[in-house]
Amino acid sequence: MARSRASRARVPRRAPTARPRPGWAGTLSRRAVVPMLIALAIALPAAGQGLERRLVVVVPEADDPRVEHTRAAIAFWNRTLADLGLDVRMREVEVVAGPPGMRAIETFARFVSQRGGRIPKGRDGPQPPPELTALGGDVVVLLSRQPLLPFAWPLIGSPDHLVAIRSLRSGRPRDDTVLRNVIAHELGHTLGLRHNRGGASLMCGPCSSLAARESPGGWLPLTARDRALLRRLHGKVETLGQPGRAGVEAVPD
Ligand SMILES: [Zn+2]
Repeated sequence: MARSRASRARVPRRAPTARPRPGWAGTLSRRAVVPMLIALAIALPAAGQGLERRLVVVVPEADDPRVEHTRAAIAFWNRTLADLGLDVRMREVEVVAGPPGMRAIETFARFVSQRGGRIPKGRDGPQPPPELTALGGDVVVLLSRQPLLPFAWPLIGSPDHLVAIRSLRSGRPRDDTVLRNVIAHELGHTLGLRHNRGGASLMCGPCSSLAARESPGGWLPLTARDRALLRRLHGKVETLGQPGRAGVEAVPD
């Protein structure tokens, strides 16, 4: 049966701002995509809640030993955030082994690692390759093939941070305690923490690897300033009584 002009006019048009999506997504019919989007909306927390930080871990090979250290660092942060009475949590949503875009992500990571202190962040800084933004999540943790300086680099949009962790040094015994603390340090930056002078705290800069080995429980401690900043950044907004945020402490500059 032929459609009338009126019924054709009711067919919704694509939003003019929609970006073309290359690859498999473009081959799916709308009938298939809509139930998928509904399923995703149910599976994911509501946007804007800000309570869950979704981590996508990118590794050269699936059996990379650094994945376990990343999980230990995530568990450390979730314990710490719970102890502080904060609702924000980190969740590993996916480990992606050797994705097709790995080379582009590694190239971007090398660029940032080599020039990090001399290039602007945000909209004026280097823009992440589409292979990185396609991974989604709030934080992409790249367990790099390269011996680069580890970093946490803020991005605009999703993900909002790229964390890069150096390759394991071949021929040297692995120092698991130091590696776990390095990953936890970079994840601390993704929560908004900055460097402390002195080598005996998690957010040290510069750091002493000796301090990590000697710290109780294997984790370097947070300072009072770190805890106050976490409460200020991630504490609940107080809606009763005086306006302001609950649990705010003075943060020295
Ligand atoms: Zn740092």
